Amino acid sequence: MLLIGSHVSYNAKKGLLGSLEDAINYGANTFMFYTGAPQNTVRSPINDEQTKKALERMKTVGIDKNKIVVHAPYIINLANTEKYEFAVSFLKEEIKRCEQLQMKYLVLHPGSHVGLGVEVGIENIINGLNEVLKDSKVTILLETMAGKGTEIGRNFQELKLIIDQIKNKNLIGVCMDTCHINDAGYDVSLFDDVIKEFDKIIGINYLKCIHINDSKNPISTHKDRHENIGFGTIGFEQLLKIIYHDKLKDIPKILETPFIEGYPPYKKEIKMIKEKTFNPNLLEEVKENL
Ligand code: FE
Ligand code: FE
Ligand code: ZN
Repeated sequence: MLLIGSHVSYNAKKGLLGSLEDAINYGANTFMFYTGAPQNTVRSPINDEQTKKALERMKTVGIDKNKIVVHAPYIINLANTEKYEFAVSFLKEEIKRCEQLQMKYLVLHPGSHVGLGVEVGIENIINGLNEVLKDSKVTILLETMAGKGTEIGRNFQELKLIIDQIKNKNLIGVCMDTCHINDAGYDVSLFDDVIKEFDKIIGINYLKCIHINDSKNPISTHKDRHENIGFGTIGFEQLLKIIYHDKLKDIPKILETPFIEGYPPYKKEIKMIKEKTFNPNLLEEVKENL
């Protein structure tokens, strides 16, 4: 069965129940959310009663909670030492929040070394991850990055170097982002080769989530600017091949495409994907709320 969803909202008032409502409205059977604003670390307490209701509702609508992913705020940077202590302690709290919400996966950007060099950056990430994973029930998924600035995780080799040194291998995995790997230099039009390389270097069993995004930029540009499905340089047909790829069947596919003039495009994009038919009027329809 196709596991498709998108980034959904999360707010303190409605909690997980609100995120689930979004997902259901979009026609999704999985989703991803931040437990607060992605760009900051302000977090409000979780209402267990709401979580319980959400988990019960999931059962009735056939959503598997083990396929839902949480995304850590992107200001957490384990690679650089400047805010390292803060990053480690916040990540520990975020893991506890995931546990409280009964969520299994937490997507994390590996970090940017900001001048320390790739080797030192990777060492810092390894130390930080081993520290936060000491008594974790949550699996951290390192995201493949576009290689913007000094980002680590711009190729499979860098992620492999990190994973190799993680003590508890059950608690580490990878989230592949189609826009990021395109921008990093992988030829997504030859996706079978990309998957083969991933399997050879990291091992396909580590792949637990895929972010499905088109890209505003050509291959190897290291930009990281997401585009709506079918409106970018990757294209609809190619993204469909990835979404329906044989080897990726059980892996949740999550859209993180841009809002269109303030409106989320996900309901329409998920419809396109399910119907395997590109909608050239998507942008107008979302904008005009059709
Ligand atoms: Fe991300
Ligand atoms: Fe992503
Ligand atoms: Zn991105």
